[in-house]
Amino acid sequence: MDKHILVTNDDGVLAPGLLALTQEVRKLGKVSILAPDRNWSGGGHVKTLDRALRVKEYRLADGTIAYASDGAPSDCVALAALGYFKEPIDLVVSGINVGANLGHDVTYSGTVTAAMEAVIAGIPGIAVSLEIPETHTGEMDFGPAARAAEKVVRHALENGLPQEILLNVNVPYLRDEEIRGFRLTRQGLRVYHSRLDERIDPRGRPYYWIGGDAPTGVAERGTDIGALAEGYVSVTPLHLDLTAYRMMTDLNTWDWDENTAIPFFELQLQDQKA
Ligand code: MN
Repeated sequence: MDKHILVTNDDGVLAPGLLALTQEVRKLGKVSILAPDRNWSGGGHVKTLDRALRVKEYRLADGTIAYASDGAPSDCVALAALGYFKEPIDLVVSGINVGANLGHDVTYSGTVTAAMEAVIAGIPGIAVSLEIPETHTGEMDFGPAARAAEKVVRHALENGLPQEILLNVNVPYLRDEEIRGFRLTRQGLRVYHSRLDERIDPRGRPYYWIGGDAPTGVAERGTDIGALAEGYVSVTPLHLDLTAYRMMTDLNTWDWDENTAIPFFELQLQDQKA
């Protein structure tokens, strides 16, 4: 039976990266599209609880029917996972985002948190982002990134992804023949250059803008940042268990009150896992 793939993103349903991704992954199964009706970049992991969600039908540049909601990317995934399309979803792919999602970016990224929502719903999730070179201006070519994404999605459908795992894929902005291949990576160290801009509004009140230069990163071998710097597509498996296992032993040496002490046998178990 045909696999049912949900395509979403955080740049908005009409973003060209979503269309490029759709056209490639369509080769692998039946594609449904449900994405935000606006740009949610940097919106993080959202669950809309205090208002209704509306869904509208759109037509993409190539005539493809797509649906857009006024919720976040993660809301779109939740809608689809909970039955919006009637047929169950086999895999969620989110992107192609304009701009890489590396290191700590994954906590801000609507692209990645859409894939996280898939994992919470028990569905394999893949996030795909395209690096923007510092010097780039004008339109972007999503072709190479879309073809890389197709390969990752194909492998994920063939091999399956374990529960709790999503893949964070980042593609360097290179031509197909310049891309050196795929690298399995861990999260690298992003370096943020955020700066607070304080200005005065027309009523004389201050307002604030989080500005500054685009983030850079430490291009260490084995990391997502390092892979992109060397011209490879980076594939990072992520899980939502953020527990710092190695810290538990240390924490156990603190002078805890007897009633709040962490059971020692659990610590030993976690130690072995770390
Ligand atoms: Mn985005």
